[in-house]
Amino acid sequence: SIAYLNGSFLPLEEARISPLDRGFLFGDGIYEVIPYYGGKPVGLAPHMQRMADGLAAIEIKCNKSIEDWRVLLDDLIAKNADQGANLGVYIHVSRGADTKRYHAYPENVEPTIFAFAFPIKDPEPVDRTKAHGYAVSSTQDLRWKRCNIKSTALLGNVMHYQQGHASGHGEILLYNENNELTEASSSNAFIVKDGKVITPIQDHQNLPGITRRIIIDSLKADGSIPVEERTVTMDEVRNADEIWITSSSKEIAPVIELDGKPVGNGEIGQVWENAFRIYTERKFDF
Ligand code: PLP
Repeated sequence: SIAYLNGSFLPLEEARISPLDRGFLFGDGIYEVIPYYGGKPVGLAPHMQRMADGLAAIEIKCNKSIEDWRVLLDDLIAKNADQGANLGVYIHVSRGADTKRYHAYPENVEPTIFAFAFPIKDPEPVDRTKAHGYAVSSTQDLRWKRCNIKSTALLGNVMHYQQGHASGHGEILLYNENNELTEASSSNAFIVKDGKVITPIQDHQNLPGITRRIIIDSLKADGSIPVEERTVTMDEVRNADEIWITSSSKEIAPVIELDGKPVGNGEIGQVWENAFRIYTERKFDF
């Protein structure tokens, strides 16, 4: 695997950073994951805009434009073609290494810019009888109140994911102290009720997911499935006809079991199949 680190391409296993890097010491950085299918990215511009927004929010200066990123990442994808046709790209910009460990943002430190590519699964078939259905659990969301920032400090997410994983679940839905759905530990969440697609509004309690955005915008452009962004209670989640979890690596993943109980009739839903077809037809337009 060929990686990119601070202006150079090199074998991933030779890439080195300082132990004083603030990404290592504090989780002081921003990351992105972008899927490439057959060399074509899904949502490159919105992904890199989200990264620029995150970097601005924590005052890290990285002067690469979306166009600079497009060229760099195309190059990285080409250099990793031997890994397969479908690759994910992980991009990490940390504040960089100071000469001491000190909480305040240092001045005159160059950010560390790192990227590498890794194989990802083929998309699921657009067929409710053949796709993989997830079994998930749920728990109260104990992360911080700035979940809109795609911080590399992921311990809260990692601990929640592990909670689900340890009980044999592929993801864990999270809800706030008012019993309202926020998202999942590494995905956004949607429900379907009476043919309507509903997802929590985007605020400080969840990540502004690019897959989420592409789904909402594709469904609105298509017009055949109503979609709504609003508060969703866990009672609504437990009584939903369908539940989906969405991310760049999962695309739209149907959930067939929540906390040991079937979702709807326990099978992957027809609205999932219709929505996933619409998403699949339009995903490269973003
Ligand atoms: N929410 C969290 C906490 C995530 O970590 C992710 C992605 O990894 C998402 C949502 C989905 O975001 P995206 O669709 O941009 O991959």
